[in-house]
Amino acid sequence: MRGTDETVHLLWTGGWDSTYRLLYLLREGRKVQPHYIIDPSRPSSGHELRAMKTISDSIDRNIEQLPGTLLPAEISRKTSSVQCKKVQEAYNAIVQEMYIGEQYMWLADYCEIRGIKGMEIGIEQNPIILKAVNSTGYPYTEIFGKFSFPILSTSKLEMKEWAETTGISPILDLTWFCHTPTATGEPCGKCHPCEVTINGGMAYRLPLRSRIRYHFRVIPRVRSLVKKFPSFYYILYSFKHNK
Ligand SMILES: [Zn+2]
Repeated sequence: MRGTDETVHLLWTGGWDSTYRLLYLLREGRKVQPHYIIDPSRPSSGHELRAMKTISDSIDRNIEQLPGTLLPAEISRKTSSVQCKKVQEAYNAIVQEMYIGEQYMWLADYCEIRGIKGMEIGIEQNPIILKAVNSTGYPYTEIFGKFSFPILSTSKLEMKEWAETTGISPILDLTWFCHTPTATGEPCGKCHPCEVTINGGMAYRLPLRSRIRYHFRVIPRVRSLVKKFPSFYYILYSFKHNK
């Protein structure tokens, strides 16, 4: 068992899950080194970094509830290519067996370059990642052996209950969740994290306009329909190309 004075490395995105984990560790009196990787292809980076700043300020004001130490976040840009060949090869081998997001390859590369062991990734219940984490041996350990997933069996509802019981909800509500915010800086109401937030009983976190967009969202519905009925995709494709 690791000592309580050991620094915990945590991938912090300013989102609900990783912020829950951060607050949980600080409440336990732990010292946390957050890491944030800027992905230029994601329009939400500015919002996430602003949320992290607001949350950090709020943590400073709640030192009695959160006695741990929050070190300044290490912020870096995603590299243009994966540096570690072993990581790249392992990822390529995994995706031949199951689909896992590329972000795990980039994160494994990040940890390898910096010599970080057991980087905590705060994602909640996820059957695909659970399967990958429980798969032992190459190529899985080459990627997933570098991380730890402390809240993989914790639901959003359990996190919410914990935050309410401990009085930390107002800080957790400062988190950012939308991947594709509007030009005016509102959550879009249409992307996957917006859907998860609304379907998870937290629609109050979106302004009315975003909730309206959620109810009238078309593209995500068409996309899920297309996945179920490939022939439907073919019809749409034919219309578009006048075939
Ligand atoms: Zn969104």
